[in-house]
Amino acid sequence: MSFLPRHLGPDAAETRSMLRAVGAADLDELVARAVPADIASGEPLRLPAPMSEHEALSALRRIAAKNRVMTQMIGQGYADTVTPPALRRNILENPAWYTSYTPYQPEISQGRLEALLTFQNAVMDLTGLDLANASLLDEATAVAEAVLMMRRANRRATSRRVVVDARTLPQTLAVLGGRCRAVGIELVVADLAEGLPEGDLFGVVLTQVGVDGEVVALAERTEEAHARGALVAVATDLLALTLLRSPGEQGADIAVGSAQRFGVPLFFGGPHAAFLACRTGLERNLPGRLVGVSTDSSGRPAYRLALQTREQHIRREKATSNICTAQALLAIVAGAYAAYHGPDGLRAIAERVHGLAARLAAGLATAGVHVVHDRFFDTVLAEVPGRADAVVAAAAERGINVRRAGADHVSVSAGEPHDERDVDAVLAAFGAAATDDGGAGAGWDLPAELLRTDSYLTHPVFTLHRSETAMMRWLRTLADKDLALDRTMIPLGSCTMKLNAAAEMEPISWPEFASVHPLAPEDQTLGWRELIAQLESWLTEITGYAAVSVQPNAGSQGELAGLLAIRRYHLSRGDRQRKTILIPSSAHGTNAASAVLADLKVVVVATAGDGSVDTEDLAAKLADVGEELAGIMVTYPSTHGVFEEQITAVCAAVHDAGGQVYVDGANLNALMGLARPGRFGGDVSHLNLHKTFCIPHGGGGPGVGPVAVAEHLVPFLPGDPGAVDGGREAFPVSQARYGSAGVLPISWMYIAMTGAEGLTASSRTAILSANYVSARLADVFPTLYTGPGGFVAHECILDLRALTKASGVTAEDVCKRLVDYGFHAPTLAFPVAGTLMVEPTESENLAELDRFVAAMRAIHAEMTAVAEGEVALEDSVLRRAPHTAEVLTADEWDRAYPRSRAAYPLPELRLAKYWPPVGRVENAAGDRHLVCSCPPIEAFAADGPESAAGTVRSGAVEAAR
Ligand SMILES: *Cc1c(COP(=O)(O)O)cnc(C)c1O
Repeated sequence: MSFLPRHLGPDAAETRSMLRAVGAADLDELVARAVPADIASGEPLRLPAPMSEHEALSALRRIAAKNRVMTQMIGQGYADTVTPPALRRNILENPAWYTSYTPYQPEISQGRLEALLTFQNAVMDLTGLDLANASLLDEATAVAEAVLMMRRANRRATSRRVVVDARTLPQTLAVLGGRCRAVGIELVVADLAEGLPEGDLFGVVLTQVGVDGEVVALAERTEEAHARGALVAVATDLLALTLLRSPGEQGADIAVGSAQRFGVPLFFGGPHAAFLACRTGLERNLPGRLVGVSTDSSGRPAYRLALQTREQHIRREKATSNICTAQALLAIVAGAYAAYHGPDGLRAIAERVHGLAARLAAGLATAGVHVVHDRFFDTVLAEVPGRADAVVAAAAERGINVRRAGADHVSVSAGEPHDERDVDAVLAAFGAAATDDGGAGAGWDLPAELLRTDSYLTHPVFTLHRSETAMMRWLRTLADKDLALDRTMIPLGSCTMKLNAAAEMEPISWPEFASVHPLAPEDQTLGWRELIAQLESWLTEITGYAAVSVQPNAGSQGELAGLLAIRRYHLSRGDRQRKTILIPSSAHGTNAASAVLADLKVVVVATAGDGSVDTEDLAAKLADVGEELAGIMVTYPSTHGVFEEQITAVCAAVHDAGGQVYVDGANLNALMGLARPGRFGGDVSHLNLHKTFCIPHGGGGPGVGPVAVAEHLVPFLPGDPGAVDGGREAFPVSQARYGSAGVLPISWMYIAMTGAEGLTASSRTAILSANYVSARLADVFPTLYTGPGGFVAHECILDLRALTKASGVTAEDVCKRLVDYGFHAPTLAFPVAGTLMVEPTESENLAELDRFVAAMRAIHAEMTAVAEGEVALEDSVLRRAPHTAEVLTADEWDRAYPRSRAAYPLPELRLAKYWPPVGRVENAAGDRHLVCSCPPIEAFAADGPESAAGTVRSGAVEAAR
């Protein structure tokens, strides 16, 4: 059986009825009329014939079998770990968790917000700092974010120098090198054992556990840095911190690292959640998302994203970073891992890991092998003059990967899954005898001055869910609070919330993919390389470019990689002055934020009345900018949801002026098989595999944002962070060569199962579905912009502004009321304030589209009642939405509408009803009293709203410490 009918929502009959509604005879006609003729590609994509689910899984198994699963003791930023089956099954393999969206709508996101808050709380406790964000993309980019954060926050320092510990992970140095060079920050890599180097500096990056395994004390260096006016970030290891004195206690301003070893598989390099924690006073500079505690309309505690107005969506080039999609799902796993093991369980794992390392050190020392550092946590560095290759090979023969640290050194990192037999096998590889059982490792204890004495993970969340039954139920309770794709369509414009098929998801947990270390030798990773090469070649064909790199691990990072390619291309031709990028006013906020990171100056191009790029303004700006033009960054089809007819003219004008054209490809779901950005004028694009190519959103990540370039930009694709030159010339944008490789099998499966015909059908159906919703709502909520033939592309902007003016009911009220109807809101206020952008995708069937249309029409009637004065806005069912069961079953009821209308405005809702766990969440209150750790449990059980709010606020004081 072919997979395509499983992927597409509408069947043939539904498609015909939808076509009638939009006024097209068939899909060919719709596409011919909607897509401008001069960009239509006209020829089918050259892709392998589609396979059934079963065939594709078998084919992928054959590829996976070419990888070799080894005992992974390489370390270097990736520690082998055990994903508790309870977490794998209940989170990673559970659509309630992986198909949810970023929690912008707090009322339908309380479950994932609580899970992310648990992650933040664990990070804050272990690092000893006051605040932590809800994840970053990987450790290396997190260090880069920390450096930029120190530069922004340290207003007293005029210096552009940052000093970094030479013991930092090499991939971090590679990423940091490129990122600093791009924005003119001088990076000084130095041995800090004896003190900081001379000269001015704004920040210092220390490493608590070095790549060589050595654990160092931090207090002296942080004091020295502070005395010289610098801020201090510390790269560290969460598991080691269960034993070691925390960076916060030793004076650090920021702590960063990877949370991978908290239960997230190696995944050949990612996706893994990075963390960033900081002390109070730096919160306004924090990159990424931050979950905070606020209250709802009843005064009860409720979670939401804090300080949201600082997001790049709104701040654009003034944003704290370009991070949008992060690593939410992996952060949720890491937080749940901390909750499952608890403080004593984590400490026991850490002690075991340290014990294994100590056993190894003891065995080596006994055999006369020099152990370089005696203060280590999990990694032992051995000196083996001239023998490194031989030892590495001997270990590999025993099924174990260890790390070659130059010709004369080998390091070995112990992890949770390892045991004494592994250690003894490694000892044998060194030619050392296995230690006899008793007393192994004695004498290698860490000195007391390095060890922590304070308590951590004291919140009940870290003790209540220790049995599997308790954990399963906690996760179920949280998931039940949320709306994800397993319950309803998520019509978020620009986000492409389509099916994430089970067959696509399954392979990511196969050990042949999940248990491979990114630095494993090439002959063990042939399967991974084959899969990635195929996927890159398919994406190249689909986009019409010359080459693709899957390295960027979010759309934002693809943008940065693409803009760096443009900048470096100009530099290579001696065009140093080409530093201005034109960005239409309708662009996604990440575009401008990424431009800043590539050291480009942003000039905004106006939007014409019909929503397209204002060509007169473009001409004027091109004339203004002149020789300084680097290029333009346009989204196609535009963020207004239309196929702009003049796109080829826009590209030509920019090329004529010496600029490059960046086509933001996040909307590729409208283009597959129909038009190719690399052929209609683009020089570079990024794609979002977590939108168009079926990687689930995971509540805000993981993502993959491949960058695709034309021939002349191929030399400027992001390079290997492990390259010999230390990566400085490579400008990698992720710490792993293939970024978040672990989720690439999902996109591989989608393309393998749908083929050229299926991808084209996906885009055609997506266009039909958007036009169907637009047509069915046209008389109540007109679509703001349409393109050729009066059609939209794959999404439509519903214009509520006239009715908002007449009634006072805002687009936000509509979003909140949709919760009562069981829907996730469309995209609110982007790209046009006061509107809702709807993207149904090809995966929703007609019944679901009609359910949405019916809800919107019913809401329109409710708005009209307010506009006509039948009910006051403040008393309306819209302004007081969403309605919790608690409010509706209260003994008192004094509202202007009956309870039944609040809960069951449409009869179908009696069959399946979603109950929001909280009423409308107050945003301002949460920002005034920033609480980013789990509130005390009493806050939820409190008798009255007043005491509940009071308990949350007392948490704020506590958090501020
Ligand atoms: C989603 C999106 C991005 C950013 O992608 P992330 O993966 O979230 O960083 C950029 N541009 C557009 C048009 C988008 O829709």
